[in-house]
Amino acid sequence: MVSERMLGLGTARSVIRELFEYGKQRAAVVGPENVFDFSLGNPSVPAPDAVNETAIRILREQPELIHCYTSAQGDAQARQRFADSLNRRFGASYTADQLYITVGAAASLCCVFGGLTCPEDEFIVFAPYFPEYKVFIEGAGAKMVLIPPEIDHFQIDFEAFEKAVGPHTKGVVVNTPNNPSGVVYSKDTLERLAAVLTAKSQEYGHPIYLISDEPYREIVFQGFEVPWVPHIYRDTIVCYSFSKSLSLPGERLGYVLVPGDITDSAEVYAAVAGAGRSLGYVNAPSLFQQVTSLCCDMTSDLKVYEENCRLLTSSLREMGYHVAQPGGAFYLFPRSLEPDDLAFSERAKKFDLLLVPGSGFGAPGHVRIAYCVQTEMIQRALPKFKALADSYL
Ligand code: PLP
Repeated sequence: MVSERMLGLGTARSVIRELFEYGKQRAAVVGPENVFDFSLGNPSVPAPDAVNETAIRILREQPELIHCYTSAQGDAQARQRFADSLNRRFGASYTADQLYITVGAAASLCCVFGGLTCPEDEFIVFAPYFPEYKVFIEGAGAKMVLIPPEIDHFQIDFEAFEKAVGPHTKGVVVNTPNNPSGVVYSKDTLERLAAVLTAKSQEYGHPIYLISDEPYREIVFQGFEVPWVPHIYRDTIVCYSFSKSLSLPGERLGYVLVPGDITDSAEVYAAVAGAGRSLGYVNAPSLFQQVTSLCCDMTSDLKVYEENCRLLTSSLREMGYHVAQPGGAFYLFPRSLEPDDLAFSERAKKFDLLLVPGSGFGAPGHVRIAYCVQTEMIQRALPKFKALADSYL
């Protein structure tokens, strides 16, 4: 006998993984250069040289910092460096004891949902959304309430949102720049969101926390600005990761920031730490606590994502695809050329294009293109996208 919920999670089909496996099989038949796999969000640029140099220096010169237990919430010096960096960049005054270092944004989110959830609590999520939110929220014992997408620009459908906020709403999740749409929420959108949350918190007599999931914070294109969310809405908790900005997804390093001025901040921080303890997310890898905290003002060379975005967006639009304007991350989320995105993704496979159906992200009628690939591959894929579009004429 095992947990039915866990059995379900462990055996559920993953469309992305299946596409990826299909791509490998197909590559064995037609050659890897003829398969255009846009399924995975794995950074395509290497980490900055300084990351490996710092790791090597610490391995050689500071053996006392590696392979060891740190404080459960992370090494104090590393947390101080993260706080200093945020303070420099955003003009804030965070302290080390407001940071909880953990294994990537996934664990950060689990710690926050776990720490906040009381019986009957709900978290609101806007489609299109990162599908693991549902797993994390339900894993914490809460309910996810999904707001349908605003499909013209992938900002927020405020009418639907305001109707969904209720007495059980404990928090709202935002992810900007967004996976899977690549869209950046405008300052106006965030300010409207903050106004609704402030009014509703007052109406229901308890705080509604905004959980800002920001692994793509630094991947922002010219002409777009990603505002620092805690400056717009006070009761914001930030979940961050170095998976994308420093191209280190396999090192599993990120943090939760519980700013000192949010409602019940000390209790929230302690509950986040308690959730980390309960989930076993204590003591993130010690070497990479040091490395990321010494390199946290840097990023990988991110300009290829902007170049890929420009090339794909303009080319697809010329071919007749409808694409909401992305402002960052490394995803494009065009409309599928038939209402059934699963059928469209199947048809794309005939052209050796691997595109993820939008249904899994809560936005049917779209597909996700993860363009964290070589630009040259995109150039070779363009005739395939054209042939796919022509097949609908
Ligand atoms: N949140 C979003 C929106 C993501 O796209 C991802 C990963 O792709 C995560 C969280 C999880 O990030 P991590 O690899 O740091 O756990």
